Amino acid sequence: MESIQSAHGKSGGEEPPDPVESSKPQSATSPAASICPWKSKSRWKDVPDHEWNDFKWQMRNSIKTVDQLKLHIPLTPTEEQRLKNVTDVYHFMLSPYWMSLVNPDDPNDPIRLQSIPSGKELEVTSYGEADSLDEKEDSPVPGLTHRYPNRVLMYTTNVCSMYCRFCTRKREWIDGDFQMTRPQLDAMIDYIARTDAVRDVICSGGDPLMLSPVKLDYVLQRLKDIPHVQMVRLGTRVPTTLPQKITPELIDILERGKKVWVQTHFNHPREVTPTAAEACLKILRAGVPLNNHTVLMRGVNDDPFVMLELMHKLTASKIRPYYIFHCDQIKGAEYFRTSIAKGLEIMEYLRGHTSGLAVPTYVVDAPGGGGKIPVMPNYIVSVSEERWVLRNYEGMMVAVEEPPKPLRRLRRRRDRRPVEGVARLLSGDQPSLIPEHLLRYTRRAQHADAAQPTLVPHA
Ligand code: SF4
Repeated sequence: MESIQSAHGKSGGEEPPDPVESSKPQSATSPAASICPWKSKSRWKDVPDHEWNDFKWQMRNSIKTVDQLKLHIPLTPTEEQRLKNVTDVYHFMLSPYWMSLVNPDDPNDPIRLQSIPSGKELEVTSYGEADSLDEKEDSPVPGLTHRYPNRVLMYTTNVCSMYCRFCTRKREWIDGDFQMTRPQLDAMIDYIARTDAVRDVICSGGDPLMLSPVKLDYVLQRLKDIPHVQMVRLGTRVPTTLPQKITPELIDILERGKKVWVQTHFNHPREVTPTAAEACLKILRAGVPLNNHTVLMRGVNDDPFVMLELMHKLTASKIRPYYIFHCDQIKGAEYFRTSIAKGLEIMEYLRGHTSGLAVPTYVVDAPGGGGKIPVMPNYIVSVSEERWVLRNYEGMMVAVEEPPKPLRRLRRRRDRRPVEGVARLLSGDQPSLIPEHLLRYTRRAQHADAAQPTLVPHA
């Protein structure tokens, strides 16, 4: 694997240049100031838009050390030492853009929790594992996981535009930055080419959009030329954390890849800024569909209202909410995990309270390589040979008939005795059970009243 330590080091590094020295004044109404709520309080407040919107400037000015970080958020000496202990093990990197979304005065800010190291990363639990999904066990070629019958995961680099503290592949950070060499990529692609069953290739990371443009183009072109590969999915946080990197050159590469889909990764509604949404729109305009992954995290988005707002902001930006992942049992990220019950509570709140397109599938990625298991609230109340009793999000229960079986129905009718409740729905004597005081019925009554014709008295 090629070392690309220059992208970011594990420790040390330069102080960010003082932007005030080198930049032109920026108007108070500058687009960047309105999009990044904390920029005006930051050391970057006077950086002109043309620099702010340049991903190379963003990368040059990224925060990679605790000494740089404490220029932006208050840290006590104890916190500073704890963070230095953490970053000796797990590095970090924050673009100025991302940092400008963080409220520096709130230690529990959801943007901060995902990205700024925490002393909790070194707390050991009984269940945290380096590779809880056993990805290496299902790897026929280094860097490639073949678990499901017709899809594979290609690991192309461990470089990201930000190092998410909850990352499932945190284990990979310890080796320093690398991207797969051309021969390593060839070995993976050759395996895909000789395995006819593979129709879907997921390029993940690290972040494949952090590959050099030449290498990304090479991978996409080779995969495009394999007839049985029907789709290539790129899992990325670049549109979220470094949207300036969605350049015309990158868009061109994605478009020429032909089979490309992009899987974005937004976790909180505040991440869906106008800049991020615009980056996503550029990808969509290239004919590349966008689906989103969200990781359910304690203190970040473990709230039905936050999740609903996130899903609405995504769909308003034409990004389809695809999965909510239950947080994996990853060593160093255990403190983000919620109960599965919390995930179910959120799904109960989403379903029916918004359009189906805004409701992702909640999945638990099974430890030990069992794959993604969808989990949802139970909508099946009961079942007999003739009927299913289902409930909707309002708690209304309805009997749904199976295709008729005449003889059995006649026999049942002779034997029928009075029953109540759900059993009555199963008996076929009642079609539904409706809770009192449903908003939907109140609305209906109001509509009915409003629709009454006005009576004009005869003269
Ligand atoms: S961008 Fe993805 S791979 Fe990279 S650190 Fe975040 S979650 Fe992990």
